[in-house]
Amino acid sequence: MKKIISVLLAISFVFSICSVAAVAADGTKTHCGGEGNCNTVPSIVIHGIGQSNVYLTDGNGNRVLDKDGKEITCFPMYADVGAIVRTVLFPVLFTLLFQKNMGLSKALKKVVYQLFYMNICDSQGKDSKYCELEEYPKSVAACTPEEKATIYRNIPLEKYGEIAGEDHLYYFAYNSFGNNLDIVDRLYRYIEMVKEETGHDKVNIVPISLGGAISNGLLEYYNGTYEGRPDVYPSINKVVYIVPALDGSSIIGDVFNLDLTFLNLDYLYNGFLEGLMDENTARWIEVALRILPDDVIEEVLNDTCYNLVNDVIRYCTNMWALCPSADYPGAAEKWLSDPEMAEIKRQTDMFYKAQLNSDANIKRLAEFGIKAFNIVDYDFPIYNVGNSWNKENADGVIDLDSTSMGAISANCGETLPEGYQQANTYCSNPDHNHISPDRVVDASTGLLPDTTFYFDNQGHESTARNDIILTLATNILAYDDIENVYSDPNFPQFNQARDTRGLKNLLKEAKEADKSGLTAEQAQELEKAIADTEALLASTVEKEGETKKVEKELKDALANAGLRKADKDKEKEAGLSKKLSLGMLDKFGTNGLSEYPIVLVTKLFSLIKGQPKADKAA
Ligand SMILES: [Zn+2]
Ligand SMILES: [Zn+2]
Repeated sequence: MKKIISVLLAISFVFSICSVAAVAADGTKTHCGGEGNCNTVPSIVIHGIGQSNVYLTDGNGNRVLDKDGKEITCFPMYADVGAIVRTVLFPVLFTLLFQKNMGLSKALKKVVYQLFYMNICDSQGKDSKYCELEEYPKSVAACTPEEKATIYRNIPLEKYGEIAGEDHLYYFAYNSFGNNLDIVDRLYRYIEMVKEETGHDKVNIVPISLGGAISNGLLEYYNGTYEGRPDVYPSINKVVYIVPALDGSSIIGDVFNLDLTFLNLDYLYNGFLEGLMDENTARWIEVALRILPDDVIEEVLNDTCYNLVNDVIRYCTNMWALCPSADYPGAAEKWLSDPEMAEIKRQTDMFYKAQLNSDANIKRLAEFGIKAFNIVDYDFPIYNVGNSWNKENADGVIDLDSTSMGAISANCGETLPEGYQQANTYCSNPDHNHISPDRVVDASTGLLPDTTFYFDNQGHESTARNDIILTLATNILAYDDIENVYSDPNFPQFNQARDTRGLKNLLKEAKEADKSGLTAEQAQELEKAIADTEALLASTVEKEGETKKVEKELKDALANAGLRKADKDKEKEAGLSKKLSLGMLDKFGTNGLSEYPIVLVTKLFSLIKGQPKADKAA
């Protein structure tokens, strides 16, 4: 018996070697035999923030498991709830009891460390030893099913994988809280590895969001003249930027400058939370915040924001890479002047230069015959976290100026001034109309007017759920048909937002549903909805609001056929909570509940004395 098992094992071992050998014919791993002689240029995705698995370790390379035995990931932090409760319990109780900051700020400083210690770089800017990055030094074809699932969940380029072959698709992983310079150096080596493995002498790169900041470093430090680093330009075929943070995000600039909206208490109690969540929840939180006096809340918030930057963010050169160039000099002065921060400052100064040279370096691509494309979102207000939030057009996370390489635009919800003429900063063709149909953007003022695609009303985070954007990127990477925004009417310069992830799932549900019990009318309605959905998904020009309309049609048809519950009514309207919160703001300002008697007595006295008439007295 034992013999049989060992023979079987031996056979299966031989087979497994054979199957590896089959992939690696001629010692290579691609369908073009590692000769690089196929028409498909390998593409390397440089993902956005948090789009790779980084595991918590004990500092000795062992992954830490949670109580269910699952590996713990570190982005953007890890909350050991028990430990945090132990840290804050008594300070919170005493602060509530005495209505004074009784060690709450100090406790929260500790909590900041407990949440982020695994992401804090050292004084040289090197990655923390408490985290381990999952890397893919191989094509997607060679990845395990779990790795593939991770990659496609982050960047759904399955279609590209099908067309080009997954053996020509690579996913460059990095720690978003890591060392920027190390990441850039590793990216260069990764490009060399892909060239060697596939036999192609050039690769496409796809910098997405924070990946755009990393590409700034690549094109600056690897131009053949930088501290002995080689020239990467001859190794690039195309660059396809997707919502790239080429000049940071004003949110991060505001964080570094501690110029934050919610530190203004009037805004904290009316406006801030409504921008981030549904109004009902926001209003109840505002009411609950009254449990503490406003000066305590103000002090605790200020202290905690300061500690977050001082203890965590300022050590992370990859976060500095998201600081807009306009904010960098002041922020560096504030956080990096200490001699202890000299090495970090040396590196962030290097990056600052890369950021300032970003346009020049992208222009240099053309000298090497490299085509650069850009896909951006606009008219989606940036989160109301920093005080720059309502000042310029954006995609919710990054300012349009940064992603579009400097395009002039009106603020979200506004249009360019009447009589505005196309400036033609970078376009010399008088036949081109680069003003968006909604008169919000002048694309001729962005560095790549003829190869930048704009999506109206699209939010940064839902970019990967817009199937048009994925199809566009796939086509640019896999074929050479799309040379610019005029090549294909199916991919115009200005297009609309859409989010078809839910719709695709719904379509699958509708097609697979058991329709045997339906009346002729129900079946007909459903068939029409399915046909409309398929037509929509086949189109790559979105009419404003069309996807939502079709999604509703399909949902209604399914509901009418009894195949799906009707959608519940939308979120509860803020009734009582809004009245309460705004009423408190009106009568008691930002004061906490315990201060109300004082406010009332003061008001009473001023009533008795009569209202002071300052202007008349003067
Ligand atoms: Zn090939
Ligand atoms: Zn043009």
